[in-house]
Amino acid sequence: MSLRQKPWRPKAPPAEQPASQRGGQDDRQEGAQDDEGLMDAPWQDTRDEDDNGETRSGTQAERKMRFLFALRSHGVTDSRVLRAMEEVDRGRFVKGVFASRAYDDMPLPISCGQTISQPSVVGLMTQALQVGPRDTVLEIGTGSGYQAAILSGLARRVYTVDRWRRLSREAQDIFTAMGLTNVTALVRDGSFGLPDQAPFDRILVTAAAEDPPGPLLAQLKPGGIMVLPVGQSDTVQQLIRVKRLENGFDYEELRPVRFVPLVEGLGNE
Ligand code: SAH
Repeated sequence: MSLRQKPWRPKAPPAEQPASQRGGQDDRQEGAQDDEGLMDAPWQDTRDEDDNGETRSGTQAERKMRFLFALRSHGVTDSRVLRAMEEVDRGRFVKGVFASRAYDDMPLPISCGQTISQPSVVGLMTQALQVGPRDTVLEIGTGSGYQAAILSGLARRVYTVDRWRRLSREAQDIFTAMGLTNVTALVRDGSFGLPDQAPFDRILVTAAAEDPPGPLLAQLKPGGIMVLPVGQSDTVQQLIRVKRLENGFDYEELRPVRFVPLVEGLGNE
């Protein structure tokens, strides 16, 4: 079976850039790096609450409804994915001054100058990955851990790797606090995948490479699916889905996106 990588190049720059992911190393937001406590009750943001459980941005139920509506209106229609996303409180993964925006459909800064993805993009990527309950999934780019927590509700086993020790530790602490026993955060350069645990049924990459990294293609099971952003610049990237066939790979373009880059080597924090 040939493992040669089929060259992938964008057919043409997209006419319109929805900028569904903000990011880049220079997007470092100092405000996201303090160590304020995490919220711990699902969908509860009690800071501005009055006696009726209402907040400035509405009741918890309203906030949750708006969140799910935003997902659906962006095309997240898979009921398993919607349910998994409903179960995971994004507020746990966003700290400090940005916590009040946790339920808005926007990317937000997290530690180490990185970004928690926009919920609708998380939903679309998860949907495109077609995760089954018996699947073992590898995520490259743990970041806050939000995406991995959602995958944990859909798959049998999830491994998530990041190049920053700090992000990995913080995410693992949240998984433990949430009682998610099927997800493990590891510190690795994800360009090389996770050979110890390979092959994988599904691989999700949440940082952009120029092309699908060869080791990740090699670690995909036959019949397996990988979803990842690719592109030669920070601004022009395509989300693609790669299926491993018996004799090679099938590539499909899904939509333009904007992710932080896949960077070589480990971070220093
Ligand atoms: N999935 C995350 C968001 C990812 S942001 C969430 O749900 O919050 C992209 C992440 O990719 C960043 O945390 C960045 O540190 C990580 N990353 C970039 N290059 C990497 C590499 N070579 N190996 C592992 N992680 C990498």
